[in-house]
Amino acid sequence: MDEILIPRKLNHTVNVGGIRIGGNVPVVVQSMTNTDTANVEATTSQILELAEAGSEIVRITVDTQAAARAVPKIHHRLRSAGCDVPLVGDFHYNGHTLLRDVDDCADALDKYRINPGNVGKGQKRDIRFCQMIEQACRRNKPVRIGVNWGSLDQQLLAQKLDENAATKQPHSLEAITREALVDSALSSAALAQREGLEPSQIILSAKVSRVSDLIHVYRELSRRSDLALHLGLTEAGMGDKGVVSSTAALAILIHEGIGDTIRVSLTPQPGESRTREVRVAQTILQSLGLRSFSPQVTACPGCGRTTSDFFQRLASEVQDHLQARMPHWQARYPGVESLSVAVMGCIVNGPGESRHADIGISLPGTGEQPAAPVYQDGKKVLTLRGNDIAVQFVALVESYVQDRFDSDTRVTRKVDKTTTG
Ligand code: SF4
Repeated sequence: MDEILIPRKLNHTVNVGGIRIGGNVPVVVQSMTNTDTANVEATTSQILELAEAGSEIVRITVDTQAAARAVPKIHHRLRSAGCDVPLVGDFHYNGHTLLRDVDDCADALDKYRINPGNVGKGQKRDIRFCQMIEQACRRNKPVRIGVNWGSLDQQLLAQKLDENAATKQPHSLEAITREALVDSALSSAALAQREGLEPSQIILSAKVSRVSDLIHVYRELSRRSDLALHLGLTEAGMGDKGVVSSTAALAILIHEGIGDTIRVSLTPQPGESRTREVRVAQTILQSLGLRSFSPQVTACPGCGRTTSDFFQRLASEVQDHLQARMPHWQARYPGVESLSVAVMGCIVNGPGESRHADIGISLPGTGEQPAAPVYQDGKKVLTLRGNDIAVQFVALVESYVQDRFDSDTRVTRKVDKTTTG
């Protein structure tokens, strides 16, 4: 079996408010608010929610003077609440004036995101872009140069299309657009470096909304640049479509070692928490075996051998228990996020899968003996019987976590062989 590749090794990292991106540092999860940044209370509250969910960096829109003036207030409230998550300002069109006019905003932000396609047309584009880079240099801030399919520099695209039309075998519009996107990111990064920004202050992104295009674009960016890369499928969409499309694109690239920080751009359902995008990003990295964020429950899908929904309820109860206990466990038991639990529906795959988990249970399928063997660290340790198997198993998980991850007790941990079934 192929090994999972670790992210490509850069010989530098980018420091975003104390969070390192690049080098051989694990891929960083980030997200973005959808509140009006001028609304200090709502934005602070959403940043706190995202940070608590595990977002290691949070980006906020800075589009008006009011939003820019709100940034230092938001920063102050976060720090007063004990939250040190780095803040990124997302600038378009007027970023050059906001960064120049609102000093406290420029200082409070830990990184600036600049979209070269949205800073101005003609000569103004480079002038404004350079004004923003100058602010970053002066304040020693990193910058994400983030180009986007939907706001690609039309002048550059037109030039590429003209050149393509003059060739004997013209490429497709999609291919030329992808090339223009990569060129826009790379030429903007080169300009930023000529203006004085160090490679260790630059992160690149080139987001598109189609999975195959994203893979093409990032393979090319990775091949042609030694800068840190921010991955994300833009406008991924809602619900299953957004989750699956983002996962498909990001997993392929990360598996190839491409990408230093990720954001999953999901459109929340009305009233839905913004934190789902954080959990999806974490799950992608954990599924690839690159990082551990929370204990994982392996559950079989069920089939004709499980004629009741008992095992589905047990799997759900175990998952809920793990989630509810994580805040306490994380504070007390370092490493608990790597815990794996199996809840299996019958003896076909149950014992095998349970042995692979840290702790697993194989429930009786239809017609099987009403007994549920429990496995810990690959060995069968006891068999549960009765009407309260769920309660008994959750209690076993609790005591397993305490024994395995509590540094005070782990030395003396023993499995009670007398209860082995
Ligand atoms: S482990 Fe048993 S119940 Fe679960 S899917 Fe496989 S055969 Fe069906």
